[in-house]
Amino acid sequence: MTDTLFSKIINREIPADIVYEDELCLAFRDINPQAPVHILVIPKKPLVDLAASTPEDEPLLGHLLHTAGKIAADEGYGDAFRIVINNGEKAGQSVFHLHVHILAGRDFTWPPG
Ligand code: 5GP
Repeated sequence: MTDTLFSKIINREIPADIVYEDELCLAFRDINPQAPVHILVIPKKPLVDLAASTPEDEPLLGHLLHTAGKIAADEGYGDAFRIVINNGEKAGQSVFHLHVHILAGRDFTWPPG
């Protein structure tokens, strides 16, 4: 996997508003928020997208989701938040380092665009 903006954020080569970090993941506010709370949770392991994950990544993927729920609660929206993972360009992925979007603080519609 080639270096992306997000590996530069992990390595502190470019700044980000980091809200959470542990040995497996990093979470920071999206630079172009689509809701009052818009945070990205990324694995420190370089994974291009969900499709590139393997069975070995199952604990990591579970950790990303569990952490996303905790962060939503810490932000005051534990009861209503949306989790999005865009996989592939056609699905809206623009940064090719797996990331979990946490969106909260407004009403959401379904189906998504
Ligand atoms: P995707 O479209 O790949 O699902 O989501 C990528 C997200 O990364 C977008 O919501 C975009 O606003 C965000 N983003 C892109 N570049 C940066 C950056 O340099 N810093 C931060 N904090 N977010 C970024």
